[in-house]
Amino acid sequence: MDMRQPSTTRRLMSLYRHLFRRFGPQRWWPAHTRFEVIVGAILTQNTAWANVTRAITAMRAGRLLTARGIDAAPHGRLARLIRSSGYYNMKAERLKQFTRFLLGRYGGSLQRMFRTELPKLRDELLAVSGIGEETADSILLYAGNRPIFVVDAYSRRVLERHGLISERTTYGKIQRLFMDHLPADATLYNEYHALLVAVGKEYCRRTPRCETCPLQYDLPKGITPSAEPTGRYSRQRRRSPRQR
Ligand code: SF4
Repeated sequence: MDMRQPSTTRRLMSLYRHLFRRFGPQRWWPAHTRFEVIVGAILTQNTAWANVTRAITAMRAGRLLTARGIDAAPHGRLARLIRSSGYYNMKAERLKQFTRFLLGRYGGSLQRMFRTELPKLRDELLAVSGIGEETADSILLYAGNRPIFVVDAYSRRVLERHGLISERTTYGKIQRLFMDHLPADATLYNEYHALLVAVGKEYCRRTPRCETCPLQYDLPKGITPSAEPTGRYSRQRRRSPRQR
């Protein structure tokens, strides 16, 4: 049975158009190579993007922005180079886990990796220690150009305040909401996610600025979003490029 709601499709597309009119193209993900996107996706947890940029610059200077470079580097050296990104010991281990997977399963070839069927590759990425749903989907969308929607704290907050989801809606259900009602288009998903981050950063903050927000028109009648309790999204908060 087709569970899609035409009204939800219209609403999601309208939100998208309003965001695009306000913010324009976001041109994510800022990186020189696909491998660098993946490194950024792993390093960006719980830190400002400026710190990730510093870590990536240090890795580049140390010739560690390749799977073989990371694999061969002593853990301590890698951790030192990515120190600015915070949790550097844990993140160094995550980078090593990912590159072991890439080298072992695909001979180090991202081209081969991204040729894998989407659900299968997503499962494989999720099986790598330290890669959760948001990181896996960021890798698939932004490095692989695969049509999968990335859900983050900002998309969750906007949708919840607009009555499209509840506080307990899972990552998977939010992702399905977008993917069941929008065309399977990587370019659209890329831009939509980046625009949600932009509106979250500028308007849909812990204390919302609805009066001037481009999405105010869509608020359910009689609903006035209030400031959310401190730390509500802190556990799943993960910063993406230009969030910051
Ligand atoms: S700031 Fe208000 S109008 Fe804008 S997205 Fe958030 S809840 Fe909606």
